[in-house]
Amino acid sequence: MRKLVADVVVIGGGSTGAGVLRDAAMRGYRAILVDRSDLAQGTTGRFHGLLHSGGRYVVSDPGSASECASENAILSRIQAPAIERTGGLFVAVPGDDPAYGDRFLAGALATGVAASEISIAEALRREPRLNPGITRAIEVADASVDGWQLVWGAVNSAKAYGAQVLTYHPVTKIDVADGSVRAVHCHDQRGDEEVVIECRFVLNCAGPWAGRITELTGLPPVPVVPGRGIMVAMNHRLVNSVVNRLIYPADGDILVPVHTVSVIGTTDVKETDPDFLPIPAKEVQQMLDAGEALIPGFRKARAVHAWAGARPLMKDDRVADADTRHMSRGMAVVDHSGRDGVHGLLTIGGGKLTTYRLMAQHIVDAMCEQLGDERECRTASEEIAYEHGSTHYVVTHRLADREHDRLDDQIVCECELMSRGMFTDLLKQRPESTLDDLRRQLRLGMGPCQGGFCTMRAAGIAVEEDAVDVERATGLLRLFLANRWIGLWPILYGDQVRQTALDNWIYAGTLDVEHLPVPAEEVVR
Ligand SMILES: Cc1cc2nc3c(=O)[nH]c(=O)nc-3n(C[C@H](O)[C@H](O)[C@H](O)COP(=O)(O)OP(=O)(O)OC[C@H]3O[C@@H](n4cnc5c(N)ncnc54)[C@H](O)[C@@H]3O)c2cc1C
Repeated sequence: MRKLVADVVVIGGGSTGAGVLRDAAMRGYRAILVDRSDLAQGTTGRFHGLLHSGGRYVVSDPGSASECASENAILSRIQAPAIERTGGLFVAVPGDDPAYGDRFLAGALATGVAASEISIAEALRREPRLNPGITRAIEVADASVDGWQLVWGAVNSAKAYGAQVLTYHPVTKIDVADGSVRAVHCHDQRGDEEVVIECRFVLNCAGPWAGRITELTGLPPVPVVPGRGIMVAMNHRLVNSVVNRLIYPADGDILVPVHTVSVIGTTDVKETDPDFLPIPAKEVQQMLDAGEALIPGFRKARAVHAWAGARPLMKDDRVADADTRHMSRGMAVVDHSGRDGVHGLLTIGGGKLTTYRLMAQHIVDAMCEQLGDERECRTASEEIAYEHGSTHYVVTHRLADREHDRLDDQIVCECELMSRGMFTDLLKQRPESTLDDLRRQLRLGMGPCQGGFCTMRAAGIAVEEDAVDVERATGLLRLFLANRWIGLWPILYGDQVRQTALDNWIYAGTLDVEHLPVPAEEVVR
């Protein structure tokens, strides 16, 4: 058993936990973050990719609209490399009530969300694929954000302030004595060892799993309701900017350009278990129909991947239990000293990735108050350092880098222009990673072939570099392909069927991946 000591343990390595870790470390606390898997593998790795301008909420949720507007500006300043300043449009398509646009503009004015109406001709000039029948168009400051880059940036900043991060360390128990939290127990899955972290405070940032964490403390679960949404990635940037329907928030009303693809989403259905999120065929069809309303011919484009995530919504007594679509998107901090008589434990839920920094500020403020400390939050003003510069992301950056100084570096993943050097550099930093862990940082296998051509190259290079033996490489390869398959089968139609048949022939037919020597135990993490 390993013993560690900290002032505060942050549970959950999604956007919220990453923001909390950074904030706590910057205020001088000895902070340790634990996650049961890799960073940003929960909801934060399964979201839509939109850095909200606030426009979506100007009518339905004015408080959230204002928060999004100000956080959008802050994050664009402090985390530019994680954000592509695409801009956004709200458009009314035929059948949408054009008068909603007036409520939208009035709401934007009242909530401080920058919005201005532009002509139809100008909207169509900017977005040539847009439905030519649109009746109104309003421009906003929506942007595209990479959740993984956002989280890694915040965590690296926290580490520079002395914070520690323990991934693949699920929390198994929280000790409480004399009415106060004393320690967090977790299991180091890779080292197969128990770890006990003595601490003064625990901040529960486990998103849709937050209720399970309070149960580990022996308390009733906090009322977090997992609101499942599905998204579908199409193989091109069908739009240059974020395109939203100019209607009251509904299903499938946003199309976001994310790196080399565009993502249509989403749905909102109450689930009971955030570990089991289906991608029903009916909802995929609903998304394709919704895309067609915005972009005629959308269905003819190739869908490359589908996924589902669970919003960590706080139970909202204003709406029915199952009505997650209309539950508030606002953030909420649960004080367990008031609710359960346990000191040193706070839970946070609700909110959005766009407001992750503000959520962190709120919960760390609440912790400081309970500890009787006066320590100011500085996360809004201090820029986060990124290895590759400080300018906003642009989709052509990998091509530009390649033409600049990487022409001799062998390409491993053509779809995403990921080179051998990029892969081996990260593998050296994170030798215990799975190919999926590396994918989240490098975008390995995320393009149209979904790993068909690059996964075996990556596995082979890992062996050549002596990072893994042949058996583990095969296990990693199989795990990667199995995980890709989860998001492939729901969208098997058109060209993607041909691609999948080809990939299957490469792996099952030629490489016979089913019968290659693998480790005694299947690789699961
Ligand atoms: C479909 C969908 C689309 C969305 N789109 C957008 C969008 O476009 N823009 C936007 O701003 N927001 C969006 N959101 C909301 C946003 O994604 C979430 O609010 C945000 O990612 C939540 O982050 P989190 O850190 O609170 O939770 P998570 O990212 O889920 O993090 C919780 C972490 O806790 C860990 N954990 C769980 N149990 C344990 C345990 N026992 N021990 C240790 N760790 C544990 C998990 O592994 C996980 O990493 C969307 C949400 C959904 C579902």
